[in-house]
Amino acid sequence: MMKQIKVFAGILVLLLLFAGFAKPAVYTETEFLMDTVVSVTAYGTHAKEAISAVFMRLRELDKKCNAHQKGSVIYAINTAPKNVPISVDEEMFDLIQQSLLFSNDAQGAFDITLFPVSTLWAFGTKEATVPQETAIVTALTTTGADKLMLDKENRTITKTNSGTQLDLGAAVKGYAAEEALKILKENGISHAYLDLGGNVAVMGGKPTRFLKRLLTGKKAEPFIIGLQMPDAPRGTVMETLSLYDGFIVTSGNYERYFEENGKRYHHILNPKTGYPVYNGLKSVTVVADNGLEADMLSTALFVLGEENMPLLANRCQGIYVIDDQMELTAVKPLITAEN
Ligand code: AMP
Ligand code: MG
Repeated sequence: MMKQIKVFAGILVLLLLFAGFAKPAVYTETEFLMDTVVSVTAYGTHAKEAISAVFMRLRELDKKCNAHQKGSVIYAINTAPKNVPISVDEEMFDLIQQSLLFSNDAQGAFDITLFPVSTLWAFGTKEATVPQETAIVTALTTTGADKLMLDKENRTITKTNSGTQLDLGAAVKGYAAEEALKILKENGISHAYLDLGGNVAVMGGKPTRFLKRLLTGKKAEPFIIGLQMPDAPRGTVMETLSLYDGFIVTSGNYERYFEENGKRYHHILNPKTGYPVYNGLKSVTVVADNGLEADMLSTALFVLGEENMPLLANRCQGIYVIDDQMELTAVKPLITAEN
């Protein structure tokens, strides 16, 4: 009898030890895509295959939406003459349509037709410099939602100005994050974390370790997402947010910029002036349950500034800003629901 108890106790100890260390299967893959570092982490036995499918889709989206890439759909639109309807697929039509509708809701703070202006600034290249004011004024004559006509029935886009050029850079990563989660789900994944250069998406929370699950009864705990400290090395965290499901997107004036005569010129432009936005903000982080919306909001709220954020604040679950004094404000604090 004593011997049986000892054997049983031994097995129990081994089991508990195993349970304590046993980690859920997890797989991560990182690739440079969409002009940024994309990393996808998925939990589960088929995580590797699921992530492969995600990267295939992301490469396809990048090819299609990259304004700089010859052969992309956006490139074709940008080089098309005026008054000629350009046929696009349903996905592209919807993306452009949603961007234009959002632009309208944001009272023009968000504008996908800014490419001729951002090309002048050439942020992120060796040619980056303050453009001639006359060049900016000329480029601004080609921008604005009114330069595009959408025909839903025939799924065509028509430019009313031959110089009009699109740039989905402020929206496509959020959309891609959304698509990535969809593909992971289709491949049987229910817990994942991905980061597309400041566009974070999480699904299902982080699976708890076996022993913790045994003790607490909880299958998952929230993912902890760090808010980047502006101008500090990537990964330096100022604050953390907890989230099971959703999208956390940051737009910052430290992402892409150059300095000339002691002044910082950064990549988020005021569509009205064609110049970078200066309103005391260094970054805006948005939490929302739609990836495209979260991405568009982060850019638009940055342009609108803290004062005008109420215009769009009801479209997301959380807004955090960091200002020039490095002060963090929860404009709309996120309430993390228990899963
Ligand atoms: P994000 O990092 O999402 O804020 O997007 C910034 C990128 O979007 C820039 O690098 C530009 O390509 C483009 N962009 C800049 N200003 C605007 C704006 N006001 N509306 C839409 N896109 C913009
Ligand atoms: Mg954005």
